This record gives sequence, C-alpha cells and structure tokens, in this order.
Amino acid sequence: MLTVTTAPGIASVGIVGGSLGGLFQAVALAELGLDVTVWERSVGRPDDRGAGIVLQPSVAWFLRMFCGVDPDLISVPVTHRQFFSRDGQSHHTLMGQRMISWGAIHTSLRDRLDSARYHDGQRVTALAPRPDGVDVHVGDAVRSVDLAIIADGSASRHRGLVAPEGAPRYAGYVAYRGVIDEAGLPEELSEVFRNRFSFYDGDRTQFLCYFIPGDFGTITPGKRRMNWVWYVRADAAGLDRITTDRNGTAHGLSLPPGLIAPQVHTELLDHARTLLPKPMRQLVEYTREPFAQAILDGRVSRMRGGRTLLTGDAAFVVRPHTAASAEKAAADAITLFAALQQIPSLDGALRAWEKDRLAEGMALYKHGVGLGHRLGLGTSEATRTAAAGPAA
Ligand SMILES: Cc1cc2nc3c(=O)[nH]c(=O)nc-3n(C[C@H](O)[C@H](O)[C@H](O)COP(=O)(O)OP(=O)(O)OC[C@H]3O[C@@H](n4cnc5c(N)ncnc54)[C@H](O)[C@@H]3O)c2cc1C
Repeated sequence: MLTVTTAPGIASVGIVGGSLGGLFQAVALAELGLDVTVWERSVGRPDDRGAGIVLQPSVAWFLRMFCGVDPDLISVPVTHRQFFSRDGQSHHTLMGQRMISWGAIHTSLRDRLDSARYHDGQRVTALAPRPDGVDVHVGDAVRSVDLAIIADGSASRHRGLVAPEGAPRYAGYVAYRGVIDEAGLPEELSEVFRNRFSFYDGDRTQFLCYFIPGDFGTITPGKRRMNWVWYVRADAAGLDRITTDRNGTAHGLSLPPGLIAPQVHTELLDHARTLLPKPMRQLVEYTREPFAQAILDGRVSRMRGGRTLLTGDAAFVVRPHTAASAEKAAADAITLFAALQQIPSLDGALRAWEKDRLAEGMALYKHGVGLGHRLGLGTSEATRTAAAGPAA
C-alpha cells in the first residue's frame, strides 16, 4: 500500500460518475489526502452485466497498491490462446493472462472508498468553472470543489466543457455478449475452454470467450462464469433493431440483459448455427440473456480545461479489441496521482498529466481501429454520433 499526503494547491475534488473511471480517480486522489466526492446517477451497485475484462498491468497494480487486494485472488488464469476454425478444430499457443470481471474490480474500488465520499442516485446536472475551481450542480445543491473530474462515460453529457468535438461515433458493428454460470454448462463443453482464451476469426466477424470470476470475485472452479463476445457488423438500422427491446423500447447504443427481442434472439441463434464453430455456437445457445453494445470510436484533443479534467471513456473510447479501456482508466488515475505528487505546481502537474494521457489515448485509439480493420470490422457505417443515443 502507498502512503502519501500532498497535492499542490488543491484540497477538494469532485468526480462526476462512479463507475471504474471515477472510482480509480477517487481512490487514488483520496490516498493523496484530498477531500474527494463522487456523484453517481445510478442507485446501488451498478449492473455489471457480468462483463469480463482482461486483467492488464495498471489495473493489477492499482488493485494491489491502492486497494490492498491481491488481483490473483479475484481473477482467473489462462495458460494458452486457442484458435478455432469453422469446423471446430483448434490449435493453441502458450500465452498466460488473467481474466477478471467488471464487478470484481468495481467492488474492490468501492470497498476502498469511504461511503461518505460516494453519493449514488445523484446526477450532476451542470459544472460551472470558476478561476480557482468548479461549482458542481447536483439537483438543487451546488458544491464548490478545487478540481472536477468528468468520468461520465462514452455518452458523456459534460465532455463538451473540455472537448466539444469529442462525441464518439458508431464504428459499424456491435458486440453481442453473454455470460453463463459455469455450473450451467456441461462438463465436456467447459473442458474445451478451461485455462484458454479462445478465438474464432471468421469472415468479418470475431468470437472470443474465457472464464471470469463469479459473484463477489469468486474463482472457485464450478462457481465461475463463462464470458463470450461476438463482434457482428450492423448498419445504423441494424443497430436500432438489435437495441430495441422486447417491449419496443429503443435503447440506442446498448441492449441490457434480459430484454432481447424474440426475433433478434432467434436470428442470433440462427447465425450462430450458420457461422460459428460448434463449441462457440453451443455457448450462444446456453446463454439465457444475451446483451449487446455498439462499438464506438471516440477521441478528444484536450483532456483539461482549467480545473476540469476528462477521464476514462468520457475522453477516449477505444475499440474493445485492445482490451485496454479499464486499463486506460486506471492509468489515467495513476498518472494524475504521480503528477500531483511529484510536480510542485498544479498547472505543471495537470499539463504533464494531459500530455501523457492524450498521447496514450490517441495511440490506443489508432491501435483499436487498426485491429478492427484487420478483422474486417468497422470499415463503414461510422455515421452516428454516440451522443444521439442513451448511455451504453
Ligand atoms: C457492460 C460493459 C462491459 C465492458 N467490458 C469491457 C471489457 O471487456 N474490457 C475493458 O477493458 N473494458 C470494458 N468495459 C469498459 C470499461 O468498463 C470502461 O472503459 C471503464 O470502466 C471506464 O469507464 P468509465 O468509468 O469511464 O465510464 P462508464 O463505465 O460508462 O461509467 C460512467 C458512469 O457515469 C455515470 N454518470 C453518467 N452521467 C452522470 C451524471 N450526469 N451524474 C452522475 N453520474 C453520471 C454513469 O451512471 C456511469 O456509472 C465495459 C463496460 C461496460 C459498461
């Protein structure tokens, strides 16, 4: 664990959004001795949709150093990458990685933060910059802070204060996703995927899967979950169809679990039978509540305006093939922590932080677009701004 106690010229920080991006910042800045407040519009523990995340070095480091959590105890190891062909044959190569769940990271961060600092069910309606700080409007209340951090995600409503040009665009394909309790899978199917990060690269499509922790980060065999992602091209009309739920409600850029329209679900199963190797097709069939997210491209040319910063997906939205979104959010926080700790002037620290994060964000953005193109994904249809739809 780290013990530090200084930051130049600021005492209080307000953070808009209490998902991973906001929580990484909150936990790190609280370690600096700052008075940190997080406002999160959703109530209770956010719905993690069971999502799996490749555990990357900055997240692992953050959990260990700032949260006192051993990441090995809440992540599932894989020893190999496994590549399938359409007929179900596979070959593998040695490559060790660890897989974690969104929920296990969120819980570790949330547990580290004093509950008085985290206000859920509170939407930030406006940010009003002052020369020496920012007024944060939450309902009828106004709270003045020395530094504000916008961590309200890809569909950010506050990004425009810093980077008006930064609204993400639809990349022309969606990720269908599914999560299955390990206990609900036949042993012979689990065995195919155990200890493996498995891929199938088809014609302008990709399917991948791996085991992740179960509830409360448990990694006990039998209590884990299988997590799969299937990238499928969809034009703007196709996206609308996929994300319009069984009740006819349009969700815009994502479809939550449990709401898939029967016809869309039937088509998903049909496509799985036609396009996927048998073990992966079976995973789709075993999934009760598939969900979906539009893939977005988002980049900004600034991450700082005066005393207001952008972090996480509110800044750069990078393609998930990079497996770097959570990693980038953690690195945003670690870099700010280090800059505030090491650089004596606030302006100098924020300038150094912005320079570093813009360079990394842009590099990841380009890398992700390149990976998508290599898979034949995201070459067209990138026409819709993410701001047009509800939050993913
Ligand atoms: C379902 C899902 C699956 C994912 N899978 C992966 C993965 O496999 N690998 C990976 O690296 N990353 C993945 N990510 C992305 C990763 O979690 C994010 O990149 C990372 O958490 C940083 O996101 P964020 O906190 O910046 O934004 P978000 O996670 O979008 O959070 C934004 C938060 O701000 C809140 N908010 C919005 N507006 C306001 C307001 N006005 N006032 C108060 N609160 C507000 C929202 O309720 C939300 O909690 C996934 C994300 C989701 C949601």
